[in-house]
Parts: sequence; C-alpha cells; structure tokens
Amino acid sequence: MRQIITRNDLSVQRHWQKELANAIKTPQELIKILNLDEQDFAAGFAARQSFPMLVPLPFVAKMAAGDKNDPLLRQVMPLEQELLQVPGYLLDPLEEHDTVVPGLLHKYQSRVLFIVKGGCAVNCRYCFRRHFPYQDNSPNKQQWQAAIDYISRHSEINEVILSGGDPLMAKDEHLDWLLTQLEQIPHLTRIRIHTRLPVVIPSRLTPELLSRLQTSRLKAVMVLHINHANEIDHTLRQGLQQARAHNITLLNQSVLLRGVNDSSQALVALSEALFAADVLPYYLHVLDKVAGAAHFDVPESQAQALIQAMLKALPGFLVPKLVREVAGEASKTPIDLHQ
Ligand code: SF4
Repeated sequence: MRQIITRNDLSVQRHWQKELANAIKTPQELIKILNLDEQDFAAGFAARQSFPMLVPLPFVAKMAAGDKNDPLLRQVMPLEQELLQVPGYLLDPLEEHDTVVPGLLHKYQSRVLFIVKGGCAVNCRYCFRRHFPYQDNSPNKQQWQAAIDYISRHSEINEVILSGGDPLMAKDEHLDWLLTQLEQIPHLTRIRIHTRLPVVIPSRLTPELLSRLQTSRLKAVMVLHINHANEIDHTLRQGLQQARAHNITLLNQSVLLRGVNDSSQALVALSEALFAADVLPYYLHVLDKVAGAAHFDVPESQAQALIQAMLKALPGFLVPKLVREVAGEASKTPIDLHQ
C-alpha cells in the first residue's frame, strides 16, 4: 500500500514524472489530505470503475482544505451522479473514431489531430474521452511514423495539432524526435500542443521542452486547458511566463461546468488570471454530452448570458468564443449570443 502523503509534503515533489507516479488514485487519499468527510463522497466511489481517478499532488495543493465544493475538487472527485444514465448522454459523443491512419484524425482541411499519447496526467470527470479505449489505441513509434508519412503526402496540411490523451505525457526526447520529423515536411508551418499537463504538474514545462520549441522551424502554439482562476498559482504563472519568453504563443480553452465556473464572477476572474499569466482566452466550450457527466451541464441560455456579462466586464480580447463540438462537423460551431 502507498504511503499517505500530507499537504505539507505537496511542495517537496518536483520532477514531473515523479509527480505523475505519485498522483492520487483513490478518493480516500484525497479525502484524507483535504480533511473532508468520507460520508459526503462514499456513494460516488463506484464511479471509479468506469473511469479511474487520477489527481497529481500539485493540483491538490491548489484546493481548499475542508471545502467539499471546491471548484478544483469537483473536477476530479468521482461523484454518485456519474452513475446515472441520462438520455442523450453517449459513450462517444463526438464520434472520434474516424482516423485516416491509426492515431491521426484529418477532419479540418489544413490541420490534423495527431494522437501522441493515450492517457493524461489527470482524469477530469467531465472529459468527453472518459470512455475512450486508450488501452487499445496507445500509439507507438510505428504509428507515429505512419501518421508522419500521411502528413508528408498531404500538402494541404500546414498545422499539426498534438493531442491525446495529453501529448506532453510523451518524454522530451520522444517529442524531440517527433518534432524533428515534422520539421522536415516543407508544407508544415505550425505545431499546436493541446495540453492540461502543466496545469496539474507545472514542472512539465521543462527548460529542455521550452528550448526545443523555441528553436523549432515550426511556430509553436500551446493551448492550455484551465477552467478556474484557482488553477493558476505562482508556480504555474512562472512556468507560463517562461513559455512566453521562449516565443510560444499561449491560448486557453475552458469547459463551462456547473459548480466549477458557471458564474460571471468565476469566468471574469479566470480571464484576468490568464492574462496575468500571459495566456489569452480562446474558447469556452459547452459540455460535450458524454455519459457520466450530465451533472456538469450548464443550459445554453445560461452560457449565452454569461458571455454577455463577460462582454460588459472585460475588453473583447479577454472574452473567449462560446462554442460547441458537433459530431461530424468540420470545425467547432460558434453559439450565437442572441438566440
Ligand atoms: S486533460 Fe483533457 S483529455 Fe485528459 S482527462 Fe482532462 S479533459 Fe480529458
């Protein structure tokens, strides 16, 4: 059995892989660290069977002890509501199984989505990929090579979006190899990395990774996934400012989540905290209707009202675009604010 780690130990662990290995995997451990009452969560323990629990300690350190409604805790703690079957909530809401070669989706004309790694450093309970069989789709170097060959043959592609899972689950030396291959494809101009890993383990923004991206022929864009201002602490802010100092464009996408960020105050605070960390808000997604996540849903009319409130409180460049993903659509669908 693993040794229980206390809040005092949280700042001691540094290396990202060690932090990943030490991530919390049971509700009982998290309850103990945060001084919560087990009775408040026991009915949801079974939800781990369909989607395991995974929470790195640097993310736990940003939660408030004793607060069962903490907005970061709510994103990662299995709850009883996940066990409900709600009509309209599906196992694969975006029908993302349409790969051109294993691990490569080509649904946008000039861009491809490259599944670098299966799995993430955190399991977000609202994730639309929570039922994705990563164990059957774990990319290897052969698959990477097949994807690279496909991209080489398609000159209409100018941007590769590294995704997963989380692409930064790959080690720096493997990302270096992949980047070197992609740099040799003349029609590529950009590399985009979609990641939540630095948010839950800030030490993932290693000097090696940032330097490699800075010296690449391909312009690097990092799209972070941050849902609440409390996720941006001093350590993450420093890491993100380092990334900007290495000429990496930083954008953020969030998911609108009931009980996490479904108020104009929370969303305005998030935009302000992002800008203070050199990150621009990009998209606010309404929830993808994945089975087990219905309790996070925010009605579209409320989402529209929240964006209207943000437009009053913030300059336009700090207001993200409200969008939804529609299965089979070639791009994200903007949600009209005046419906
Ligand atoms: S980091 Fe992203 S892909 Fe991974 S579990 Fe969270 S929402 Fe899903």
